[in-house]
Amino acid sequence: MFFGRLSLLLGCAIVGLRGEPNCIFIVADDLGYADVGFNGSEEIPTPHLDRIAAEGVRFTNGYVSYAVCGPSRAGFMTGRYQDRFGFTINPVIDPTDPLAGVPLEEKMLSEVLKPAGYATMAVGKWHLGCHPTLVPSARGFDEFFGFLSGGHNYFPEDLNIGDLSQVSEMWGWYRTKILHNGQRIEIDDYLTDELSDAAVEFIKRKSADPFFLYLAYNAPHSPMQTTEKYRSRFPDIKDRRRQTYAGMVSALDDGVGRVLAALEEAGISKETMVVFLSDNGGPESVNASDNGLLRGGKGDPFEGGIRVPFAIRWPQEIAAGLVYERPVISLDIFATITAAAGVTPDPARPLDGVDLRPYLQGKVKGAPHPLLFWKMGKAPTRVIRQHDRKLILSAKGEQLYDLSEDLSEKRNLIKSEQAEAAKLEELFRVWDAGTLPTRFRGLGAWKKPK
Ligand code: CA
Repeated sequence: MFFGRLSLLLGCAIVGLRGEPNCIFIVADDLGYADVGFNGSEEIPTPHLDRIAAEGVRFTNGYVSYAVCGPSRAGFMTGRYQDRFGFTINPVIDPTDPLAGVPLEEKMLSEVLKPAGYATMAVGKWHLGCHPTLVPSARGFDEFFGFLSGGHNYFPEDLNIGDLSQVSEMWGWYRTKILHNGQRIEIDDYLTDELSDAAVEFIKRKSADPFFLYLAYNAPHSPMQTTEKYRSRFPDIKDRRRQTYAGMVSALDDGVGRVLAALEEAGISKETMVVFLSDNGGPESVNASDNGLLRGGKGDPFEGGIRVPFAIRWPQEIAAGLVYERPVISLDIFATITAAAGVTPDPARPLDGVDLRPYLQGKVKGAPHPLLFWKMGKAPTRVIRQHDRKLILSAKGEQLYDLSEDLSEKRNLIKSEQAEAAKLEELFRVWDAGTLPTRFRGLGAWKKPK
């Protein structure tokens, strides 16, 4: 608080002098691994996302902690495996349910940065609880421009429900009007452009303060909707759905370009950590995304579900043009920015992520994560990665892959490497002892209000 006022008084003079870095955490929704230029896409140019990678670090083994939206977000917003607090499925969209979200004992990135003097804003998709105690304004965000549900219609004329309490059919929440600081408002433009506008406006307004901007685009999550402006950039894509998808990704990329330009204009590019990732892999059959060589997609335990486009630009801390190949996970963002901001996390709730800076600066040579874990679904599929070996235990059987030579997970080594599999299973069991069962009703449990 004090710092915010001081910044106001001193204006621009304080820019570059203060120690706290800014953080802009940009999330794409259901974006395919191979659908960004920095991962090799030639069909969909993403020059601005590519800039983040080229001027910073690109992760070739960048993971999220779950293969669908809600739990993945609960993980990276707390820096802890969401299994530790029972956020193991997509929560029901129900504003009367105080359980269906991130428990209040857990602290979100916004909730630790705000008391440290950060201005905070969430833009776009929330999907971390709709009850008044769980919404952005109750979770450390000064400002919010977006929607609480897991997906949304993109055209203003389709947004005609005044509030979640008025939703009368499953998925009706896609049609709720946009929330701006607690008020339902009308918007004029394509939703992706509106989200970019809100982000740019916040950066301009808060450039003299340390700030945290969570910019969670719902693009390119279904419904598949884009404007002629963006669609017309892809005359050569003949598949209509893929063309729409490309337009949606292109709109997102334009927005990221405007965010980067706003940072430059304010003279704060250097000290601003800009993170970009997708919350899970592309559901190829739903939104025509492309995960390239990776097997499977959204919802799957295979690489296509959990390995995502992931890059960070942060000139003050990370050299340009870095390609980092050891496994990292979205949980690391929390640990990295809080360490840089000098914020000590609650020792009772240890982070699973690590501060990536010493690894990216070459000060530490080992792997940030000797082990990574995933637990997904009802009779949970259990997944563990150690070095290049990945074990998947599911109702369909056991699978063991060597990712160093089998990225597409085609050659199951389980028969020839029984001892290795048993060792990994035991490591999983030890980790799993620190997790909790699902604590709330899932998305499908929604019932029409009486
Ligand atoms: Ca998603």
